[in-house]
Amino acid sequence: MSLNEVKPKKIDGRLFAQEYLNKVLKPRCETFTEIYKKVPKLSTILVGENPASESYLKLKEKFFAKLCVESEVFRLPEETTEEELLAFINKQNHDNQIDGILVQVPLPSHIDEDTISESIALSKDVEGLSPGNVHAWAKALPNLVPATALGVLALLKFYKIPIEGKHAVVVGRSMIVGKPVTHLLLKENATVTVCHSRTKPLEKYTKQADILIAAVGQPHLIKKGMIKDGAIVVDVGINFEDGKMMGDVDYDDLLETVSYISPVPGGSGPATVCMLASNLLLAFELKWAKKNEEKLECLRDYYANYDTIGETGFCIE
Ligand code: NAD
Repeated sequence: MSLNEVKPKKIDGRLFAQEYLNKVLKPRCETFTEIYKKVPKLSTILVGENPASESYLKLKEKFFAKLCVESEVFRLPEETTEEELLAFINKQNHDNQIDGILVQVPLPSHIDEDTISESIALSKDVEGLSPGNVHAWAKALPNLVPATALGVLALLKFYKIPIEGKHAVVVGRSMIVGKPVTHLLLKENATVTVCHSRTKPLEKYTKQADILIAAVGQPHLIKKGMIKDGAIVVDVGINFEDGKMMGDVDYDDLLETVSYISPVPGGSGPATVCMLASNLLLAFELKWAKKNEEKLECLRDYYANYDTIGETGFCIE
């Protein structure tokens, strides 16, 4: 069947999250508490206020409440200096009760995001952005990978969307989404084109996409006429206009012509939260696994997990 003959279908991130929670995360969490007699703990650090961060935080807290994990949110004022934030993170790096640290971005403009992500201990870096983790995912080695990028891959696999040999176009080249998603798609043997703010004209490239990933942060940037019929679209963008959340993709405009499309809200966001939880469980397990062999086993399980989404019973039927 050609892509053009497939009925347009919503990529339902909430459905994925429900399935992933029940079939993967909960059993994993229960096993851990049984073996290690401890509960994984995530620290989320927020500096200042941002509507996208607040919405993600709300989603994350609601989801984590369903799991046997502890999640604490630290809110720091907008005026917090880079030195103060570094000192705060350093304290948590040495706090044995904390297994994962997430610093919510965007940070206020006087704080350098790279400096901050580089300061998080490798073993607690659940966003996969510290140098050791970046090195690992860039080389397709097993380690902690940014949750949003993993979420995109998980959604594609959940819907059994073939990736190998397809032309994937990623719009956005940030360290948190665009670049890791590019590496994950390359690992899946897609041919990947990366577009960014200086790509001109954008539609020349988006029109070539079998799979389009939008991670820009501009409401409804991707519209009809910019993609080919039958394309698969995953919208990562979270934007607010008049208090309404919307993606980078004009969902209603494209629905007729695509074969699959993810909505905002209810698409990439819930998948990201799942993968964040999964990363936290991995960080926890790696920390408490006593012997090296046990640690390697954790990583193997983790990767087998992603490689087999769609084959292990939690893909869409
Ligand atoms: P960012 O600002 O760091 O990066 C944006 C990227 O878009 C840049 O690489 C830039 O070159 C590119 N870009 C800007 N204007 C463009 C244009 N006109 N054409 C093509 N490319 C353009 O943002 P980010 O942190 O990567 O986040 C992107 C979006 O994803 C935001 O809306 C953010 O809120 C959202 N986000 C969602 C999740 C989720 O869980 N769904 C997680 C993280 C970020």
